[in-house]
Amino acid sequence: MADILKHTCETTNCNNPAKLQCPTCLKIGIQGSYFCSQECFKGFWKEHKIIHLLAKGGEKTDEKNGYNPWPYFQFTGKLRPYQQSEKRQVPANIVRPDYADHLKGKSLSEESFRGNTTIKILDDEEKEGMRVACRLGREVLDEAYRVIDVGVTTDEVDRIVHEACIERDCYPSPLNYYNFPKSCCTSVNEVICHGIPDMRKLEDGDICNVDVTVYHKGFHGDLNETFFVGNVAEKHKNLVKVTYEALSKAIAIVKPGERYREIGNVIQKHVQSHGYSVVRSYCGHGIHRLFHTAPNVPHYAKNSSVGVMKPGHCFTIEPMISEGSWRDVSWPDDWTAVTQDGLFSAQFEHTLLVTESGCDILTKPLNDTGLPHFMKHM
Ligand SMILES: [Zn+2]
Ligand SMILES: [Zn+2]
Repeated sequence: MADILKHTCETTNCNNPAKLQCPTCLKIGIQGSYFCSQECFKGFWKEHKIIHLLAKGGEKTDEKNGYNPWPYFQFTGKLRPYQQSEKRQVPANIVRPDYADHLKGKSLSEESFRGNTTIKILDDEEKEGMRVACRLGREVLDEAYRVIDVGVTTDEVDRIVHEACIERDCYPSPLNYYNFPKSCCTSVNEVICHGIPDMRKLEDGDICNVDVTVYHKGFHGDLNETFFVGNVAEKHKNLVKVTYEALSKAIAIVKPGERYREIGNVIQKHVQSHGYSVVRSYCGHGIHRLFHTAPNVPHYAKNSSVGVMKPGHCFTIEPMISEGSWRDVSWPDDWTAVTQDGLFSAQFEHTLLVTESGCDILTKPLNDTGLPHFMKHM
């Protein structure tokens, strides 16, 4: 997606369009400071750096938390970041993806396919690899569900996920993926996706999505569910229910010959009829030996995604549905995506394998009801 040029350079008398941001400003959450070039940034540094000092002088901590890494960031809702625990380690005997040991967490194998829209057709051995990885991913998510409760930190959820992965001979795929610091994503309330587990205790009435991906013997299995914490308001329960229904309706059309772009039409039609909106910045994705690859699977209507489903394709559908605006904002950690209006957002995700007649839900629930966990608490 192209960047929109909406800022001008901070240097006095330079009116060039600007999209470079000062790294120090980004770190402490000062918004709206842009430069057109490295030259302007360096040339104006003496004047510019004063605002860093002013920001430090104005540093305020959150009352409840005693910690605010970005004193000048305007939060969109009530949620705040908390301190994070140390990076967890994975035993050396577990097979690791290429990015696990890259300094910036880059996946060179994924990047070698960037821009390529060809969708891999899995052979029998690869299909079996995916079935096993996805089943293990499901077991790990179920472990996370068991620990979710009022007063439990999302860091504790991450610890459970991390250890459940290791017990199953899996590497937790998010860990160090483009430097993501934890082993799963925990997205609470207005967080759309990619929330980082931290020391915040879950509160009565929260909704918390846990997104688990495991890497087992060369294959990734990816799923998520939104869980209720204690007593959740009816309006938020309804958001979660409608989001799950949207995923189910989308899965129902998956079969050979269907266009990937149809998925978004089905999802948006359903959620719009309930007054909700579809997040546009984050999409489903192809998945197998690579964590994120072709096809790109948008969840909104009238998208221009390319490709037609064929037996042997493997991909995720993972709609993020918001109560209010579909627009997202990122926290200065560059991961946590929140709603622009601070209203709640929910998500569900499955990894699917296209078969001759439809699809197999590789990450389906292991109980005989086939229902997601929140249903027990509706
Ligand atoms: Zn996921
Ligand atoms: Zn995914």
